[in-house]
Parts: sequence; C-alpha cells; structure tokens
Amino acid sequence: MSANLKIPERQKIEQIVLRVLESRQDQIISLLKAVDTQQSPLVVNVSARHVHLNQSAMDALFGKNSQLTKYKVLYNGEFASEQQVNIVGKRNRMIAGVRILGPIRDYNQIELSYSDGVYLGLDLPLKISGDHENTPGCTLVGPMGSIQLNAGVIRARRHVHMGKKDLEFYDVKDGDHVKVVIGGECGVIFDNVVVRYGANMKLEVHIDTDEGNACNLQNAERLEIIK
Ligand SMILES: [Zn+2]
Repeated sequence: MSANLKIPERQKIEQIVLRVLESRQDQIISLLKAVDTQQSPLVVNVSARHVHLNQSAMDALFGKNSQLTKYKVLYNGEFASEQQVNIVGKRNRMIAGVRILGPIRDYNQIELSYSDGVYLGLDLPLKISGDHENTPGCTLVGPMGSIQLNAGVIRARRHVHMGKKDLEFYDVKDGDHVKVVIGGECGVIFDNVVVRYGANMKLEVHIDTDEGNACNLQNAERLEIIK
C-alpha cells in the first residue's frame, strides 16, 4: 500500500499565507510602527488591591522599627512585600491578606476595587494616589496590633505611567486624559485614563481588578493608546 500525500499547489500556499497575514494585519502594523518609531512597548497591568503604609503604621502593625521585605518586584520598580494586613470595613466585613506595596511612604493609603468597596460597605471615591479628601477610613489589622484610619481608602483612578519619551510620542502632558483600547472578545475602550509623568517611569497602564476582569485582560488581542 502506498500513502498518497497530496502536495498543495504553490498558489494555494500563497493564498493561505496571505490569509494568515491578513488576519494579523493590526498586530503586524502596530509592531512595525513600534520598530519604526522606537516606541516603548505598551504594557497594561492590573493593580490588585494593596496598601501603602508609613513607618508609624508599620510599627503599630508589625512591631517597632519593622521593615518591609520584598516578595515580588513590580514592572515599574516598586515591590509587593511579604508583609500583609487585614482590612476591616463596616459590619465587621474583612478582606484578609492584603499586600503592602513598598517602599514605605509618608502616608497611609488603601487602594481597593469598586467590588471590594461594596463588600466592605465603604463608598469609595475615585482618586489619584495621594488625594485623600473626602475618603473613608477603615481598620487595619497586623500580626502585632491594629490601627484605625480616618481616611485614605480609595479606588485608584485608572492611569498610565509615562516617561519623557512617552509624553513626546503620544503628544500629551502630565494630567491629560487618554483612551486605552483593549481588543478581544471582551474588548473595551477605557476612557479618562490619566497620564502620570515620572522621569524614570516605563510606559505602563494601571487598571483595577474589576476593570481587568471586565475586559478579560489576560486574553487581550490588541492594546493601544488613543486620544
Ligand atoms: Zn500606577
């Protein structure tokens, strides 16, 4: 018995290659554009719920002069620490095991998603990091004690970190708003994404877990910043 392997004609192969290229046209064009312009790669990351603490909060929660130790270094140089706290909201609702993001700050801030706020019974205002006007407080519980905060629980406004080159490339300035396109089956366009300039920042979009889940970020097919 002889196997009869059918070799496709050259024309058919060309058609298949063209079809594949065509279906990837968007990706190919954006890659070529990035090469041409030496544009930074666009990275979109979900910023999971986390806490920033000052030293006196660290002392109260983890013991005098306690320090943060690194668990995971993040894309833009900050780190998730091994130390975790429990966040207690209203009616004793609690979210346990929330990581502290280092390094130590000179203020305390708790960044949660909208869903977290609903669960804790806290009405979370949308804020840029550091703006604690009219924000609710909560109780933080650590292994060595607890503290009561009167303010500082926020839902972080979606934002994009940019360095100087990125401001120039997108022709924007610190505080401007852009749109971030997330392509795919659950694709969305995020409006009102705040540009946050930092001299040493790499281009990175931060959205919260609600937003990341809504657009199925893990399976996104296309990422783009538009104005
Ligand atoms: Zn950020």
